[in-house]
Amino acid sequence: MTKRVVLIGHPVAHSLSGAMQQAAFDKLGIDARYELWDRAPIALPDAIGELRDDAFLGANVTIPHKERVVPLVDRLTEEAQATGAVNTITREGKRLVGHNTDVPGFKVALDHLVGRQKMPRQAVVLGAGGGARAVVYGLITEGFQRIIVFNRHLHRAEGLVKHFGRSASHMDLRAMPWHESIIEAELAKTKVLVNATSIGLTSEDSPVPAEALHGELLVLDLIYARTRLLRDAEAIGATIADGELMLLHQGAAAFTLWTGQPAPLEVMQAALVEARSSGLRSAEGEPAGGDSSEPTAATVE
Ligand code: NDP
Repeated sequence: MTKRVVLIGHPVAHSLSGAMQQAAFDKLGIDARYELWDRAPIALPDAIGELRDDAFLGANVTIPHKERVVPLVDRLTEEAQATGAVNTITREGKRLVGHNTDVPGFKVALDHLVGRQKMPRQAVVLGAGGGARAVVYGLITEGFQRIIVFNRHLHRAEGLVKHFGRSASHMDLRAMPWHESIIEAELAKTKVLVNATSIGLTSEDSPVPAEALHGELLVLDLIYARTRLLRDAEAIGATIADGELMLLHQGAAAFTLWTGQPAPLEVMQAALVEARSSGLRSAEGEPAGGDSSEPTAATVE
């Protein structure tokens, strides 16, 4: 019987995950089909309940459900517990397990960005949503000693800092108000900048003015596109990376959890690139409440 894996989100129509995961199943001869389930929040408990059936290998969960799914599964892994967000579900008999593979996906992207340099200890993170939680937890477990979180709505950044209170008790994790002068002052003494906001996803805007950037920075934008931020950073000599590796490796980790097999990374990456070039957008990268039917200037994750 063909097994089923579903992506549950709202919206999901433009997801890149379908192409990436189906290519991996096909390559390894696994009889499974990756389906997109667009479910409004009210329909989420029923959708999660369906996954307990033997036909399902598991699921991905995306915007806006990553946090809502937490109380609906039977067990959480350490990363899902720590971040308070689930992006992958597996089945143990009738029991459902919630995982967060954005965390290992981010760590691969960070390692690649840092390259052969010594891992820095200070970072500025822009954003306080689900993506930012995976980033901050990844930085904490990587041994960063100072992480400053800026967010448009300060209370959300403060909530994030409070959430990580215990796991960050040994280091300096702070929320700061979104003022250009404060961001610029922090960037001047920082090596790593991560954009975990959706600014740049559907526009040519950058979350920080080009003048605030400097050439020593390592800049990671979680958006899967050459955003304005990345172009500005590259122009002054900073090292840059977009969200492709994180997207690829969160997907690869999920694939292995469902199938028990190593993910065919090259096949998945090729499928991602092809899907992106054909204009698909990923629900993983969809801003909450965004209109997925609008064409965009940039190709986005
Ligand atoms: P959320 O909706 O949870 O968070 C969105 C964040 O962007 C919030 O911090 C929000 O601030 C901020 N934001 C949105 N619009 C603006 C604006 N106009 N001005 C200032 N801040 C703004 O989304 P996620 O955390 O899940 O995703 C965030 C980004 O990360 C997306 O672009 C997505 O593409 C990317 N992502 C990529 C992944 C990958 O695998 N490459 C994985 C996960 C995410 P506020 O709280 O004030 O509203």
